[in-house]
This record gives sequence, C-alpha cells and structure tokens, in this order.
Amino acid sequence: MKTKLAAVVAALGVLAAGPAFAWGEVGHKVVALIAWKHLDPAVKAKVEALLAADKDILTPPDFASRASWADRWDQEHKETAKWHFADVEITDGDLAKACYGFPKLAPGQIASAGPADDCVIDKIPEFAAELHDPATTEAERILALKYLVHFIGDMHQPMHIADHEDRGGNCIPLDDGSGQKRNLHGFWDTGVVKDLGPTPEAIADKLDGEIKPEDAEAWTKGGPVDWATESFRLATSVAYKLPSLPTCKDQVAPQRLSMSYIQAARPVAAQQLQKAGIRLAATLNAVLGS
Ligand SMILES: [Zn+2]
Repeated sequence: MKTKLAAVVAALGVLAAGPAFAWGEVGHKVVALIAWKHLDPAVKAKVEALLAADKDILTPPDFASRASWADRWDQEHKETAKWHFADVEITDGDLAKACYGFPKLAPGQIASAGPADDCVIDKIPEFAAELHDPATTEAERILALKYLVHFIGDMHQPMHIADHEDRGGNCIPLDDGSGQKRNLHGFWDTGVVKDLGPTPEAIADKLDGEIKPEDAEAWTKGGPVDWATESFRLATSVAYKLPSLPTCKDQVAPQRLSMSYIQAARPVAAQQLQKAGIRLAATLNAVLGS
C-alpha cells in the first residue's frame, strides 16, 4: 500500500464496500494462493505452524488472508509505510536513491523495527534472512512471514517501483466512466486485477495453470533487485505510457485509459501475479527448507 487509507478509499470510491488495499486484497490473495501450490510439503507445515501461532486479529488467519496483513498494520504504524514500495523516478531509474541508500540494520536490530526510511527492495532480504535464522524469535518469524508474503506481492505491482512526482500514479486521475474517483495507481492495484476472474481462487487457479515449468524455473533466478528492475521496466514501458503524465502539483482533468492501454496492461498484471507467486514460493522453500 502506497498511500494513506483515506486517500485510497477516496481515490477508489469504495467506502461503502469497505477498505481497499494495494495490489488490492484480491491481488495479494492471488499471489499467496499461487505460491501455496508450489510450496514443498515440509515448508507448508512450517508455514502452517507459524500461522497457527499467530493470534493477530487484523486479518483472518489463513495464508491468503495474511497476505494483506501488512497493509492493515501500516494504517496504525506509519513507520512501516515506506517499506511497501520504492519511488524510483522514471527519468533516472536510480534504485539506490529511491531506497534511501539501502540502509543496514543496526547490530541486534530486528527487521520489523528497522528504519522508517527503507524500501521494499531492502525489506524482502531482511525478512528472508530472519525467517531462515533459527535464532529468530517466534514473534519475529511470524512478522517476517507476513511481511514477505505481502512485500513480494507489492514488488511485482509496477507502480510500486516507479514514480514521477505523482506518488506512483496516485496523483494521475482517471475517468473509467463509472463516475467514481480513480487513479493510475489504483488501476494497477485493483482495476486490472478484477478483470482476470471472478474470485481470487479462480484467478489463481487459472494463472497457475498457465505457468510452464520452464518459465517457473527461469523466474526464480535472481533476487529482489532483479525483480524490482523488471517491475520498473514494465512501469516505464507499459504503465506510464499515457498521453500526459501529470504530477501531484498539477490540477488536471481525469484521463480515460485507451482500450489498447488496458489490453497491454492485463497480460502484464497477470504475469506479474504469476511471477510473484512463484518467487514467493521459491523464497519460502529456500529459507524454510531443510
Ligand atoms: Zn503494501
């Protein structure tokens, strides 16, 4: 989640339908459901044991619902808000600048209490290392699991790794004909995802069925910096391909996405959800496997 809840709710115009969260709860669930299908049985058992030990009530306790926990937590814990994205300026592509120079944790500092000025590219390896380390407390392992499930999803939403003084597209108003307030970030979080199927389970089953084993193998190569670079390229080559790119300072009329834009966005979003699911499973299999 890249913005304040109130702003998101206002932007998406879904107050009556309940709060909305980045990738949207649907997108995060899809990522978790795909990953679940690719977890090794022994790793699944370890994940289930951690979920069973987690008494937090912000979300239901199942793996797919816990994928949205971090977006709920950051409503009351603003010090974690910047961890969900990296505002990589599209004109310079400077990941390190967008990630505050990749700050290191102080000796003995746990990742869930790390510096507020940090980004998703940095937090993923921090939490993966904690989950791998048998010396990590159970409480921190539970947090590390929930952050990983969420952040590997966030990292694959192209607008979470790109910015043009528009808060990752939150300041680019859209007109989708519904009369509701929409923006470009919200389109990539939820608008494009809901077109992929009727429920998270249906979307996950469909997308997972389309993944070729050789694709899955190729996608697990590399790490968070490579995944971020890929998301950034998709942001510049697809998501930001608009007739005009207003910034937060501009007061502009909402623009309507062209059919060709939407048709280009849909397969990109679908494949990013597939990649996120496969990479989440590979990460958990690596850090929790024996
Ligand atoms: Zn998020």
